[in-house]
Amino acid sequence: MPDDAAPSSEWRERAHAFAARYVLAEAERIDREDRLPDAVLRALASERFFGLGLPAEWDGAGGDCRSTVAVLEELAYGSAAVAVTLAVHLSVCARPILEHGNDLQRERFLRPLARGERIGAFALTEPGAGSDSAGLTTRYRREGDGFVLRGAKMFISNAVSAGEVLVFATRDPALGHRGISGFVLPSGTAGVSVAQRLDKLGLRGSETTELVLDDARLPTDSLLGEEGSGLRIALGALAGGRVGIAACALGVAQAAFDTLRDSVRLDDADWKRHRLAQAFADLASARALVADAAERQDTGRPFSREASVAKLVASRAAVSIASSGVDVAGEAGTRAGSAAERLYRDARVFPIVEGTTEIQELILARSLLPPSDEPKPF
Ligand SMILES: Cc1cc2nc3c(=O)[nH]c(=O)nc-3n(C[C@H](O)[C@H](O)[C@H](O)COP(=O)(O)OP(=O)(O)OC[C@H]3O[C@@H](n4cnc5c(N)ncnc54)[C@H](O)[C@@H]3O)c2cc1C
Repeated sequence: MPDDAAPSSEWRERAHAFAARYVLAEAERIDREDRLPDAVLRALASERFFGLGLPAEWDGAGGDCRSTVAVLEELAYGSAAVAVTLAVHLSVCARPILEHGNDLQRERFLRPLARGERIGAFALTEPGAGSDSAGLTTRYRREGDGFVLRGAKMFISNAVSAGEVLVFATRDPALGHRGISGFVLPSGTAGVSVAQRLDKLGLRGSETTELVLDDARLPTDSLLGEEGSGLRIALGALAGGRVGIAACALGVAQAAFDTLRDSVRLDDADWKRHRLAQAFADLASARALVADAAERQDTGRPFSREASVAKLVASRAAVSIASSGVDVAGEAGTRAGSAAERLYRDARVFPIVEGTTEIQELILARSLLPPSDEPKPF
């Protein structure tokens, strides 16, 4: 295994070999059956990918953000569902516990995540609160020695397999963002159930569920960070998460580009060669932006705006290149089970997940303009 100081190229080679051995041949089946084979999850754990970017002190596998994006891109090249499962586990569950948890929480919750013994999930979205996460209505109250949570969470990745779910709830919706706190919900908590497993257009195999909290009781030590700091924790996690999701979109864009290139000849009609050239330009811009956002993270510079640009451009590139792949393949590109069709469906979900394109545009516009007194929900 590469050590803490290993360059990202070493992690990339390792992930490339892993995708070739365990993932590529399974991609069509993962999509059709809408589940990840246990063998793939076990192999991800034994290769230490679940501990990527987490310090050895907490049983992590080390590696910087550039290594993480390299691994996510290589895995997504094989199967977007495999990469997204890992991205959610690492960036919006394990990392916020590392950054905001105390040592007891890191001991109890982070170690098993870093060792790949448990899979992490993140539950912010609700049936009535997606982009406007400050409007969430899942309630918590203090009771006896802990907290009681009640409400529903929607579109939650990894929640069926999850060992730990980072969940956000409000003491009182009237308090707005100041009322929101984050909690670590261990698996097997009484009162937590999966109401439905959602059947999706793409990223099939990355499980997405509705989670119901019916007076779920949590001990005091499940509160992450300060009471009332939940939205700040969630939005910070999502900024890092967007770099990971952008890397997953990049992997799909690269796979779609390779499929497209294989189907275009130099003496083909002009429009096909133009599409290939445009796809190359889109891919190159996405790659540069993902690398820039990851490098900023690694060097401790502000990266929220760059994460949004990377996510915006990489997900658009994936959709546009995969769409050209379908156009160039014609009828064959619309057939269920063809690579062009699967890549298009997978790509189409990236502009939605972890903040839609419109929300990234709002974040960008805000970062480019003088501050106003308007409240900031994003
Ligand atoms: C595959 C998948 C996995 C997911 N996994 C998770 C997860 O693990 N955890 C989690 O908490 N959530 C998860 N989500 C939820 C995801 O983050 C939300 O879908 C996303 O934030 C958008 O929310 P929404 O679907 O409610 O859409 P809405 O917020 O209802 O938006 C609908 C449309 O309106 C636009 N819109 C909304 N508000 C504005 C505005 N102010 N200005 C301009 N346009 C606007 C949006 O861009 C979008 O086009 C997942 C979603 C998907 C599809």
